[in-house]
Order: sequence, then C-alpha cells, then structure tokens
Amino acid sequence: MHISKPVVLVLGFLAPAVATTEAWAQAQPTSGPASASMQRDPKALDVIPANLFEKMFSSNKLVGSPGLAWKRKRTLTVAFYGGSEPLYRLIEEAARDWTSIGGQLKFSFTDTVGKYRVWSPKDKTVSADIRIGFDQADYWSLLGVLAENVGPGDPTMNFGGFPTDLQRYFDGKNAASWKTSYERGVVLHEFGHALGLSHEHFSPKCQQDLKIEDAVASQMASSKVLSYDQAMFNFDAKYYVKVLKQLAGPLESKLLTSPNTDQRSQMLYVLRDELFKSGAQSVCKAIGDHGQPWPTVLSDGDKAFYLDNYRVISSPFGLAGLNAGRKE
Ligand SMILES: [Zn+2]
Repeated sequence: MHISKPVVLVLGFLAPAVATTEAWAQAQPTSGPASASMQRDPKALDVIPANLFEKMFSSNKLVGSPGLAWKRKRTLTVAFYGGSEPLYRLIEEAARDWTSIGGQLKFSFTDTVGKYRVWSPKDKTVSADIRIGFDQADYWSLLGVLAENVGPGDPTMNFGGFPTDLQRYFDGKNAASWKTSYERGVVLHEFGHALGLSHEHFSPKCQQDLKIEDAVASQMASSKVLSYDQAMFNFDAKYYVKVLKQLAGPLESKLLTSPNTDQRSQMLYVLRDELFKSGAQSVCKAIGDHGQPWPTVLSDGDKAFYLDNYRVISSPFGLAGLNAGRKE
C-alpha cells in the first residue's frame, strides 16, 4: 500500500483524542475522600504532539500492516526518559494489567541485569518499542505499531506531571488510592492505545447517541490549537476509520461493530451528560467503580479485545497438527 497521498490528509493533526478539561471537571465528585486530589487542573488525554502525529503516519514501513496491533512481536520493550524508579514501578504495575490477562504478548521493562530500561532524545538506535517521557504537558500514546514510524529519539508515550503528581504513591504509599486513581486509569488507557486499541466511544450505539458536533465544538472551545478536522478525528468513528484505514490497513473491527458500548471500558471518555442525546441515560456514559466516576479496572470488553489481538495461537506443529497429518 502506498501511503504518500493519504499522509496529506493528516498533516497538521494534533491529536486523535482529547478529553477536555471541561469534561473532566464535570466528572469530578463534589465530595468524598478522593476529591481533594481532584482539585488540581486535569491534564488532557491523548494530546499527541503535532510533529509526532504526522511522523506516525509518514513512513512506508506500514506496507502490508494488518492494523494497529503488534503482530510480529511477542515482547514489547519499554524504556523511560526522566522520572525515577519508584515512578517506573507504578507505571509497570498498572501496564501489566493488560498482559496479565493472558495471551502471547509480554512487556519487558528491565534489561538483562534487572535495571529499568532508559532511552534518550539523543538515541540513534531504537532502545525500546515503547519510549515513555514526562516532558510534555499532557497524556498521550502513539497508536500501536505506528509508534515504529517515529525516530529512536522520539517518545512514543507521555505522562506529563507524573514525576511529581505520583510521588504520593511512591514506594507503596497510599497503595489503595493508587489502585483507584485517575492516573492509574490513564496508564491503562494510554497503554491501550500503545497496544492498538481505539476509543470505545467509536462503537455504533455511542456514535448514534453522541452529539458529535457539540462534542467537537466543546473540545475546540477548550483548546486553542485544535482544528475542526482534528476534533472530528477525536470523536467521529467514520472519520477516524477512514484516515487510519488508508494509512494502517484494515483496523480491528470488534470495538467498531460490537452491538453494545462497553461503559466500563478504559478506552471510553468520561464526558458531560449534555454531550449525549439521551443525557445521563446514554450508553456512552462511563460507569465508574470503587467509588470513582471512572472505571478503575479493565472491563471484560477491554480484556476480550486485547485477547482478540494477542491470544496465544496454537502451533501448527503441535499435537493437533500431527494428528491431522496422520489422517492424510
Ligand atoms: Zn485515548
């Protein structure tokens, strides 16, 4: 597949998805033990820097790609730039929720002598598949295998503010709060993107109930740099699929065709009720757990999607294969 022409479509795009400050603020409980930590200004989700978003789509390495999932690797290496080991441990702990489901994929956060892997913007060779930084303001991850298209000195994931914001969880402090924190969900969400998952609000019933134009307008109002096209990419499944299909090949179809929206998915935005045609009754409305307005654990749908991409495939040379061979 030649991608030189489609690349033009996404030049200048900033972000595939942005959860607005306004939407976040709406989701905050007004009381309760967790509210103190939520007074802070939230950071936006999925604000991929424009230059990396462009680079992500600007390589001919994508020829023949089956989609966003990592089909040719069994281990994804992870490296950090900045931050500290207590922070790395928290991120690793959360990210492993995905691979602990089962399947053939593993994360490797440490080198052969057990030290956390690091990368640097000066790197000339790729130190890891997922390169986490903390320099940029917001939270984002490049999408699945498209991360291979940026340079070895580029981050592929960013958690702005984590080195200070997560200090209260370092070395096992406030462990129960960490488990249900918004930030831990952010790690699950962004690693979901790194694994190739798309947003749950792209599912058909949610797309029907979501006031897309209002959501787009709301998001544009909350960002000085977001264009109409960028916001559409964030909210409109048809637009998202159209762009990605041209550039990444056929996408995973499960989330986009599943009959019901998974309201407990880590990949669903927490949005204001008025952005839904059916308001608070919307199938798009995120259902929280553990006393939080957001889901704190991977949903059954998240797990099913993950396993769809990364399940263990039986060897054709195993017992079944041999038996089949004998029959011939
Ligand atoms: Zn996202």
